[in-house]
Amino acid sequence: MQMMFIAYCRDRVYSMRVIYEPKGKAREYSPLALNLYNGCSNGCKYCYVPAYCRRDRKEFKNNTAVRKDVLKKLERDCQELEGGSQQILMCFTSDPYQKAEEINKITRQAIEILNRYGLNFQILTKSGSRAEKDFSLYKKGDTYAVTLTFDNERDSRKYEPNADIPEQRIKSLNNLFPSPAARITTLLLISAAALVPIIDNTLLQTL
Ligand code: SF4
Repeated sequence: MQMMFIAYCRDRVYSMRVIYEPKGKAREYSPLALNLYNGCSNGCKYCYVPAYCRRDRKEFKNNTAVRKDVLKKLERDCQELEGGSQQILMCFTSDPYQKAEEINKITRQAIEILNRYGLNFQILTKSGSRAEKDFSLYKKGDTYAVTLTFDNERDSRKYEPNADIPEQRIKSLNNLFPSPAARITTLLLISAAALVPIIDNTLLQTL
């Protein structure tokens, strides 16, 4: 049976198909979220998602796929949420600009759908160099956020082998920033791993 999510917006209750209300700590990032891909090829060694989804870590990294009918379901969710003021985050369970996005352009299409319905979004990525091609789609009230897990290329390449190195992520923030008049928010999210010494893999598994 298809899992349905309930979202509360503007005092109305909606039965959502792919947009959902995050729980716990994730709720602090955004009131609503949308996951576009199953799996993530960034291959971060500290990633908690495979365990959460009960998937083998290697398989999660190597077999990424667009979620079935995700854009069709998104369109239907957007019809219900049209004009709402709550931001929708992409994505909690994968990087919306992982390698597969080069071919699929699903994140780009999702943004275009959200824009058509006047809905604001937040991108959360470690792949800024790929995200840049969609910067022209951002509108007032949208947010672009990159996660910085390490402050150096060596550790980044070791622990998040297929993500952008830190320098590229920061560069992408700067490339969006020169248009403050557009009132687009840019965020640099510093992960705890950047602030503590790396003792061994055991520590990373707990982050
Ligand atoms: S970018 Fe996020 S979802 Fe993808 S592997 Fe890294 S921690 Fe996991």
